[in-house]
Amino acid sequence: MREACDLVVIGAGPGGLAAACRAAEAGLDVLVLDAQPEPGGQVWRGEARKGTNRLARRWLSRFAASGARFRPGARVVAAPEPGLLLVEEGPSSLAVRYGRLVLATGARERFLPFPGWTLPGVLGVSGLQVLVKDGLPIRDRRVVLAGTGPLLLAAAATIHAHGGEVLLVAEQAPAARHWGFALQLWRYPDKLIQGAVLSAGLAGVRTATESWVLEARGERRLESVRMSVGGREEELACDYLGAAWGLVPNLELARLFGCEVSRGAVVVDDRMETRVPRIHAVGELLGIGGVDQALVTGEMAGLAASEQPVPDALVSAWRRVRVFAEALARHDAPRPELRRLATPQTLLCRCEDVPLSALEGCRDLREARLYARLGMGSCQGRTCGAAAEALFGWAAEDVRPPCLPARIGSLRLPPETPPTPKRAS
Ligand SMILES: Cc1cc2nc3c(=O)[nH]c(=O)nc-3n(C[C@H](O)[C@H](O)[C@H](O)COP(=O)(O)OP(=O)(O)OC[C@H]3O[C@@H](n4cnc5c(N)ncnc54)[C@H](O)[C@@H]3O)c2cc1C
Repeated sequence: MREACDLVVIGAGPGGLAAACRAAEAGLDVLVLDAQPEPGGQVWRGEARKGTNRLARRWLSRFAASGARFRPGARVVAAPEPGLLLVEEGPSSLAVRYGRLVLATGARERFLPFPGWTLPGVLGVSGLQVLVKDGLPIRDRRVVLAGTGPLLLAAAATIHAHGGEVLLVAEQAPAARHWGFALQLWRYPDKLIQGAVLSAGLAGVRTATESWVLEARGERRLESVRMSVGGREEELACDYLGAAWGLVPNLELARLFGCEVSRGAVVVDDRMETRVPRIHAVGELLGIGGVDQALVTGEMAGLAASEQPVPDALVSAWRRVRVFAEALARHDAPRPELRRLATPQTLLCRCEDVPLSALEGCRDLREARLYARLGMGSCQGRTCGAAAEALFGWAAEDVRPPCLPARIGSLRLPPETPPTPKRAS
């Protein structure tokens, strides 16, 4: 099947939704593609059905009324030439021709390997939160969370509210850095209120800075975790461990299009246009900054893509959210000890079973791929790539299509839909 539009938006999180609304309201034919079954992205997952979050409700209704078209379950896997995308939708494939493009592909958790991290029962921090929101039975289950930043508290609050017994929330940042970051929040009253609400919801839950996981233990699944808590070792028996250290942007598509990436984020101008003309990038792709950044940059990209001026107020809001994003990046930067947790036997690439020892002698990601098959499995390095960067400083190579696992058939241009034959009279 084939489709055409003025503007295609990849990703229906807050960033993509804001861009689509602004452009569609200006009269552009906008098509939004997302791999998920509903719009909302990571933070508003399920809100299209639940409607519990006021901000999400407002944007989702605006999107529904905007005239933008939405294709759920649409995974963009390749871009064989400028102005053309190849998309996999369940068993079928789709080719999309577009005039402009907004990349709003969001972020994923940063995993760093430690002994036992592949045991059943060990998940990402936000991954565990998402499963709990989606119905994973957590009541009376003992949970340890190890990570960093505001998402750690958000996950703890969700699990606690669903009846999970949160034994410890381990923040890796040193106390001075952590409280210094918290003190800066007075400039962002919304975030301050959010932080206060989360902390109030966690009354009685043990939290500690300068703390991280050393090892997950268990025979067939997780039974306990060995932790470093404020400089002392502790072993905690538990059912679940959520462990991940902040987020990293999903840069594969941006790299595939040849957009410039600097210090782990896509480079854009004040119109959110990347160095590749007619391609814009928004939200977490610009550096982890949360919902506010996604909405502001999304609106700016939607206005620019529809040739409307970007008001000064939005440009100032963008500068303000940047300051927050930079402070968050400093806070969440993994401490050196986290890079030394893996032993030679610890798997770094869990798709291809590549232990750390297999990378001995490799000088970069390319050699690690060629000689040890790091990142050659089904996730295509989406998990071990960021870990290898953190551990060895190996920057990601150029991305080759498909940027997500895809059927061979999805990588060729689908035939035109044949015209419906006229009935003989
Ligand atoms: C697991 C997880 C949970 C989170 N939970 C929270 C939370 O509870 N509270 C909070 O404040 N923040 C949360 N965040 C942070 C969140 O990423 C941002 O606050 C916000 O959602 C960013 O908006 P965005 O539009 O940039 O990206 P996202 O909301 O991440 O949206 C990106 C969208 O792009 C789609 N996509 C990506 N690649 C493709 C592709 N190739 N083809 C088609 N679609 C694609 C994804 O399916 C996704 O829906 C979470 C992040 C993660 C990774």
